[in-house]
Amino acid sequence: MTYTYGNLIGGAWRDTPSRFDTFNPARPAQVVGRYSLADASLVAEAVAAAKQVQQPWARLPAAQRCEVLARYIDRIEAHKEDLARAITAEQGKTLVESRGEVTKACAESRFMLQHVMAGDGSRHVPSLRAGVRNLVMRRPRGVIVAITPWNFPVMTPMRKIAPALGFGNAVIVKASEFTPAAVCLLGELASGLLADGLLQVIHGGADVGSALVSHGGVHGVTFTGSVATGRRIVAATAANLAAVSLELGGKNAAVIHDAPDLDACLDQVSNAALMCSGQRCTAVSRVLVQRGLHADVAAGLARRASVIRLGGGAEAATQLGPMTHRAQLEQVKAAVRQAREDGAEVLAGGTEVAIDGCEGGYFYAPTVLDRVRADSAAAREEIFGPVISLIEYDTLDEAIDILNSVDYGLTAAFFSNDAKAIARFVDECQTGMLHVNHGTVPDSHMPFGGIKASGVGAYSVGPSAAAFYTTEHSVYLGT
Ligand code: NAD
Repeated sequence: MTYTYGNLIGGAWRDTPSRFDTFNPARPAQVVGRYSLADASLVAEAVAAAKQVQQPWARLPAAQRCEVLARYIDRIEAHKEDLARAITAEQGKTLVESRGEVTKACAESRFMLQHVMAGDGSRHVPSLRAGVRNLVMRRPRGVIVAITPWNFPVMTPMRKIAPALGFGNAVIVKASEFTPAAVCLLGELASGLLADGLLQVIHGGADVGSALVSHGGVHGVTFTGSVATGRRIVAATAANLAAVSLELGGKNAAVIHDAPDLDACLDQVSNAALMCSGQRCTAVSRVLVQRGLHADVAAGLARRASVIRLGGGAEAATQLGPMTHRAQLEQVKAAVRQAREDGAEVLAGGTEVAIDGCEGGYFYAPTVLDRVRADSAAAREEIFGPVISLIEYDTLDEAIDILNSVDYGLTAAFFSNDAKAIARFVDECQTGMLHVNHGTVPDSHMPFGGIKASGVGAYSVGPSAAAFYTTEHSVYLGT
């Protein structure tokens, strides 16, 4: 089966003369999807359609909007298998991971609906004048553009669609050009539930994305992807002064300071590093280990990495799928090559892998690099592949210095039973999310985001998301 979709504009799937294809990363000769590439006039039509439908949607009581959206989420959950297959076909992760992604997307979306019903932060404030009541009120922002990457083709779009619509906005989604099938299914599933134009889907790459985010009719841009693209988006939104929320890359560390149950710790670190073949923004990519534990940690991580079974994501025996596209595989190969030149030692993996029955698949072996210098690229730059860089340290001061020495600030984990050391990590670690004695996998009802080069503006999920999808108004009610 080949997914074949146009752009979903005002409730109709619209074709254009330009098309692009997607491919199965486990068997790249296999075309998975055929899509119409949007152009500037379709972008303009989408924005106009969103504007038209947003006001009547915003006028509905929040409870009514949430009821419709709850039915939409139920529908998504009922189609979990179709969505999971679409994710696996284009992104490559195992079906188990894809099903988990859909489940988590639904859980987060339901939580954001609860957030809508708990109130958007509007409140009464005492007035300076007799007979006047002051109200600080929030209203829907208007037309939201959501630009998403290829690693979580359902969860990232839903993380934006659910709060955008819940708080009374219209939303236009441009998914990654590598993984648009899942968002097309999400668009189809909205049919008959959401008014035409409330949720629209636009296809394309940088040009289409740029046209969307700089369109004068757009009020908010929520973006998840790389730092380089984030910078371009900020520059492009200077044209319309739209509000921006950016979720960017990471160089996430697990610090193993004194882990009494080292096996449990290494299970969590290895899982957090390698799931989705390391193509998670929250993947553990550096392991900072106190020198006394180094030998056990190195051996334990290498053993875990070397027994993982690679293969096509749709095959039941597979534990880890491929890289999502050729350039990503090449990037991982180049990063490991550079690490070796910088003196790192390969304890496991370190090579591209050929799998029988998956000719040309973009597989890379789970890799553990030892003796990585804290100032080298493998210790500082995002690799976005199944690669763990081991860095040794002696003192807690040194660990915290290394931890905070990178540009990124998304998430980190700290393994220790020492209350003082834990307190220092919680107070001083420069990341948006901090985990003590567990890996970096987040809950579905906790704010999700980063600081420094990992994020700008509102987090996903929770109160700052509510603020991003609404605007603030000071109201003076005289009598
Ligand atoms: P990317 O930045 O290349 O692309 C992301 C999206 O932006 C795609 O839809 C792409 O078509 C679009 N785009 C590209 N150029 C654009 C432009 N000039 N204007 C508007 N849109 C444009 O990222 P990617 O390779 O798809 O994803 C991997 C990156 O995403 C990694 O850096 C990863 O860490 C990051 N990421 C971050 C999070 C997070 O929550 N912090 C989550 C997932 C991925």
